[in-house]
Amino acid sequence: ACIAAVTPAVSASPPAYRDASRPVADRVDDLMARMSLQDKVGQMTQAERLAADPATAAAAGIGSILSGGGSAPTPNTAEAWADMYDAYQRAAIATPLGIPTIYGVDAVHGHNNVQGATIFPHNIGLGATDDPELVERIGRATAEEVAGTGIDWDFAPCLCVARNDRWGRTYESFGESPERPTTMASVVTGLQGSTLDGPASVLATAKHYVGDGGTTGGDDQGNTEIDEVELRAVHLPPFRAAIKRGVGSVMISYSSWNDVKMHTNDYLINGVLKNELGFTGFVVSDWQAIDKTDGEEGFTADEVRSSINAGLDMIMVPYDYQKFMDLLRAEVEAGRVLMSRIDDANRRILTKKFELGLFERRFTDRSFTGTIGSPEHRELAREAVRESQVLLKNDGNVLPLAKDGGKIFVAGKNADDIGNQSGGWTITWQGSSGPITPGTTILRGIQQAVSPGTEVTYDRDGNGIDGSYRAAIAVVGETPYAEGEGDRPEAMGLDEEDKATLARLEASGVPVVVVTVSGRPLDIAAELPEWNALLAAWLPGTEGAGVTDVLFGDNNPTGTLPMTWMSSADQQPINEGDDQQPLFPHGYGLSY
Ligand code: BGC
Repeated sequence: ACIAAVTPAVSASPPAYRDASRPVADRVDDLMARMSLQDKVGQMTQAERLAADPATAAAAGIGSILSGGGSAPTPNTAEAWADMYDAYQRAAIATPLGIPTIYGVDAVHGHNNVQGATIFPHNIGLGATDDPELVERIGRATAEEVAGTGIDWDFAPCLCVARNDRWGRTYESFGESPERPTTMASVVTGLQGSTLDGPASVLATAKHYVGDGGTTGGDDQGNTEIDEVELRAVHLPPFRAAIKRGVGSVMISYSSWNDVKMHTNDYLINGVLKNELGFTGFVVSDWQAIDKTDGEEGFTADEVRSSINAGLDMIMVPYDYQKFMDLLRAEVEAGRVLMSRIDDANRRILTKKFELGLFERRFTDRSFTGTIGSPEHRELAREAVRESQVLLKNDGNVLPLAKDGGKIFVAGKNADDIGNQSGGWTITWQGSSGPITPGTTILRGIQQAVSPGTEVTYDRDGNGIDGSYRAAIAVVGETPYAEGEGDRPEAMGLDEEDKATLARLEASGVPVVVVTVSGRPLDIAAELPEWNALLAAWLPGTEGAGVTDVLFGDNNPTGTLPMTWMSSADQQPINEGDDQQPLFPHGYGLSY
């Protein structure tokens, strides 16, 4: 009798939420009916992988894991990433309800966390292409590389409209005016594919909602002091476009709008984003952002409550997740956060997990691992690099350079440095100089482009140049930084090293072609008269040959400025439509 009583339970059909033939909404309802408050609070929690190994994350019921700022496994290979992902998923699936985890990374210019991945130009360069179709293809290629490591969620695109070039995240912006960031929301379609459960579909994130690029003084995480008309006209349109394209998640900005922290802004999150724009995906916080809403270190019950009640569905805690879950549960039990709010958040998150096919897909699709850094993706990146070049000056048609004959001199700290040409968010959060990942430096591109009879001499500092060279190419500009580290409250010109290098070249009498590698326009008006040509290369990534495609005339430059180029740093903020006189206006760019 005992056995007879047990047998039907064992052989009963699996719960409805496991049945992939049912509509997602039904599966979500069925699953939620089986979840405790603790389970639901767990789904709203995102932990950094270094703070919760797979077993710990699963035991705590944490619904999401991230690699913050790229935090990579050792060794930093695609296989190690995939194994790591699979371990988290295996542990999550083994829990009583078996709800899969969702794993997020910042793949903001290709899968930039992984050694050997294709590094595409940062958004400012893609903005210069003004080519949404190209950017969609880049989204697709990025999704394939991300999927090749198992990861199912990308904290991209950044749809900020960068209004002040002093901001250290200016290079994450497709442009200073709403038009380009709005059309470039096409990357969402590339990342997510035509359906979320399709091959190599990755959940995209429109970030950082809203006004992150409009802070006073260009302060990172600062205060955006503009009226609602301007907020809606300048900063909102890219988000509207991303929502139209079905973006699955939105990340809230660290910044404030007129002194109110975005993470507590019920009007802009619940009101505008969810109700007015009809966003049905889920809203995630930024890293430790709820800690910062009251100006004190760490987070409190008040901060948990105000952010969840403002419409945050998932909190990137990322370390103190147990405390977060305890506080949130207590707030619900005390009636200060309504159960309906918790259910709404869970419905949004679980819907995406089902739509992504995570309940069925489970582990890394290793058939995509081979796309990481593949020749096809590198060729696409090279195409993007050459489309992103903006020719700003070309006196006497010194460009394009002939490929054959004579001698070419190459100098500058950014001529032969993959790290510098890739910028921040490459292998590590801040990025770094040096051969940090395989790729083609601009110098290498030049060496490959010229005919065998042409001698290329390279000296980083410009020493040894004399009048026997037919051209000197100086690759100068910025070195890697990310977020607040890149804020430049003072001037944004060339550093002393670049100036000394350029002085040597200029003294030789050889025509000087300057290539700037930088995350923003630079304050170079004083030096410009000394140069024969100026090409803005932005932060091209690993495929430096795209720069030489333009230098040697294989491609006629078509890129145009996505940002107004200042005449001097004290003009900041300077934007299209201002009455200030720029060095080069928004939209400017020469061709041969
Ligand atoms: C950044 C976000 C990023 C997050 C996770 C934060 O510091 O502002 O853009 O997605 O870190 O790495």
